[in-house]
Amino acid sequence: MKASQVIKPKEDLQIKDIEIPKPKGRQVIVKVKSSGVCHSDIHVWQGGYEGKDGKIMKVEDRGVKFPLTMGHEIAGTVESVGEDVSKFKENQHVLVYPWIGDGTCSACLVGDEHVCDNPQSLGIYQDGGYAEKVLVPDEKYLVDIEGMDSDKVCSLACSGLTAYNAVKNSKISPKQSLAIVGIGGLGLTAIQIAKALFNPTIIAIDLNDDRLKKASEVGADYTISSKSDNFLDKVKELTHNKLGPDAIIDFVNGPKTVETDLEILKKRGRLVLVGLFGGSAEINLPLLPMKNHTIIGSYTGRLADLADLVDLVKRNKVDPVVSKTFKLEDATKALNELNDGNIVGRAVLKP
Ligand SMILES: [Zn+2]
Ligand SMILES: [Zn+2]
Repeated sequence: MKASQVIKPKEDLQIKDIEIPKPKGRQVIVKVKSSGVCHSDIHVWQGGYEGKDGKIMKVEDRGVKFPLTMGHEIAGTVESVGEDVSKFKENQHVLVYPWIGDGTCSACLVGDEHVCDNPQSLGIYQDGGYAEKVLVPDEKYLVDIEGMDSDKVCSLACSGLTAYNAVKNSKISPKQSLAIVGIGGLGLTAIQIAKALFNPTIIAIDLNDDRLKKASEVGADYTISSKSDNFLDKVKELTHNKLGPDAIIDFVNGPKTVETDLEILKKRGRLVLVGLFGGSAEINLPLLPMKNHTIIGSYTGRLADLADLVDLVKRNKVDPVVSKTFKLEDATKALNELNDGNIVGRAVLKP
């Protein structure tokens, strides 16, 4: 079968002919119909993330091995199953949960495989969906998506799930105010999820007016440009007693945005950091205890949450955005367009 692989970081992806094994035990081979191209794929392809003082944190130091078939947002149909598979059968339409753990660490034992000590995620630590087929190690990682559009649904496995978990981590409740910083695909999804689950007052923040317009279309109560004068005061004015948002989800998570977040966040507020923009920030340490702030990092989400999220989409509470589809051969092009900021929503490869 064909796979589009990263042979070496930064170089164009290459189409390779790869042997795929017959599934054994609880394994399943999924024929890929749609494979989302995620921002984090750019970092893996480029070989790392920017950390403190501009130093690159290499993905190879974190266990990524090349050549690699990337792709962790995979929807398709079951092609063949191992002898112990009981719930899924051939041709069934499925979404793959890619955040696979080792099954033995303390995170895995409580269902938090996505933050496993020894991660085995598809498309990062083992071959993923930039291919005609993918081997899924256990049928439990499949979610039924019968009757749904696989181009739309595939991104739920990463972008959707990340937004879902971030909203849950914000611990927001009705009547409180939630600021969402960075209105890309994740921000737009998070607005819809927060409205559907908790119905807080939502303040969408971004530099770009087109994105802010989109934010109000999907349910943000207020939108505000971070370029506007007296931006900090303006945000506070939109909240109860002008005390600031009860929680902030930052999908940029860059030095500038985090600095601002901490200035506007209400006393006892929660700041959920999600984005992988890179860099480092200085924190005014006494203010953390004095304001009783909680800062939390949020990465993807649990297997159980993916099923709940698919259900929200089935009930039309959340509508994922697809902006462009590409052939498998054009994976490098898709990554470049995403990197250049030319894709709002999701780019999807069609093997
Ligand atoms: Zn584990
Ligand atoms: Zn992703």
